[in-house]
Amino acid sequence: MHRLLLLMTTTTYRAGAFLEAARRLDVPVVVGSDRPQVLAAANPAGNLTVSFLAPDAGAESIVKFTREYPIQAVIAADDDGVILAATASAALGLPHNPVKAVSAARNKHRMREVLTKAGILSPHFMQAPISEDPAVVAHRVTYPCVLKPLFLAGSRGVIRANGPAEFVAAFRRIVPILQAPEVVAQGAELADRILIEDFIPGVEVALEGLLSDGHLRVLTIYDKPDPLDGPFFEETIYVTPSRLPVTVQERITACTAAALEALGLRHGPIHAELRINDRGVWIIEIAARSIGGLCSRTLRFGAGISLEELILRHALGLDPSSFFEREGQAAGVMMIPIPQPGMLREVLGKPEAERVPGIEEIRVTIPVGQELVPLPEGSRYLGFIFARNETPERVEASLREAHRRLTFIITPPDDTAMNGTAAPSAEVEAPTKEEARRSRYRTGLVAGGSRRSH
Ligand code: ADP
Repeated sequence: MHRLLLLMTTTTYRAGAFLEAARRLDVPVVVGSDRPQVLAAANPAGNLTVSFLAPDAGAESIVKFTREYPIQAVIAADDDGVILAATASAALGLPHNPVKAVSAARNKHRMREVLTKAGILSPHFMQAPISEDPAVVAHRVTYPCVLKPLFLAGSRGVIRANGPAEFVAAFRRIVPILQAPEVVAQGAELADRILIEDFIPGVEVALEGLLSDGHLRVLTIYDKPDPLDGPFFEETIYVTPSRLPVTVQERITACTAAALEALGLRHGPIHAELRINDRGVWIIEIAARSIGGLCSRTLRFGAGISLEELILRHALGLDPSSFFEREGQAAGVMMIPIPQPGMLREVLGKPEAERVPGIEEIRVTIPVGQELVPLPEGSRYLGFIFARNETPERVEASLREAHRRLTFIITPPDDTAMNGTAAPSAEVEAPTKEEARRSRYRTGLVAGGSRRSH
């Protein structure tokens, strides 16, 4: 009998899709989580509490568990579990990525070192300890540059600086993000420094792939039609198939394959972000996992199977090759931008937005009554809009129109604390990316006014 171990933290967005895929495959699943599950006692074969932050100890508990409940594959739902999944798979003799390769992909500085050494186009980079005086570091940097944590995801803490003054402000803004207790626990010594890279202009794409014994199978390439020029890098629209010329797509694939080889990644899902400009194709980031958030809902393969089902079939050694073909329609997602910080009070216009032709679903993932924290501090998505249509152009247009019909009622932050009562709500029509950026300037976030940890 096949049994799968799915490693997922309690905060992952990916749980539902993987569990649903396992259900469809009718494979028993063990959920390996960082916190005890409420119903664990009722189903000891289905739950395992395991430390994601100490992969050796975690792998040991997994091996012990398998003596009673054998496991055929260990899969990490997202970044948090990839090192543990590789370590446990090695201990169990299951097909896996080398732990060293996965660790390199989890450390953006190490990744840059490996790529540069392999001669792969990759920005110039350096790192600076957070204890260093940013005004001094600012003189050693070429501009424009991008400052970023070495191990976070979702563009958290990623800031562009065009000169020394912006560099100092950005550096000072990243330090408290890295000093939040849960971030220190997650990053350990990687939380002590900031990576600084040349800013690479250009269009950005994401590549979703599956590695089998070192061979890369491209599952899809997404275009990101909104420019990502900073100062923060909030992702919005992903549309597939890519509208880039086939020759450019081939170069994207070749560049990704070369980077994977340099890193030593060989098995399982991969997700890469690349930029293309007149100097070539650049790896921004490459990870040994599938796409994050709820974005995988844009993908359907073969007779309608999900990305997660493909990944599980692959992991279980069930030949997935008959499912590799993506569906004929175009598809896309908008990660709804957070228009301004504050308390989410109400979401208006959802039925109208859902009526836009091509729109399949709108999911607001931050509950009303909770705080919205924009980038660079924020770590949660406001929500997702999904669309399918005949062409990528139509998908993009549907996503934009649906977004335009949404209105978010947000109470500004700090007012409750200052006055003891909530200030009147602001009606925020879903803004364009540029408006959202301006709104952030208005609220003083860019100047470094608000510092909230979460
Ligand atoms: P994360 O893993 O948090 O998403 P990334 O390193 O992928 O961090 O950066 C997030 C986004 O920031 C990228 O998708 C890209 O748009 C932008 N970015 C990061 N580094 C650079 C760079 N060197 N040049 C240009 N843009 C960058």
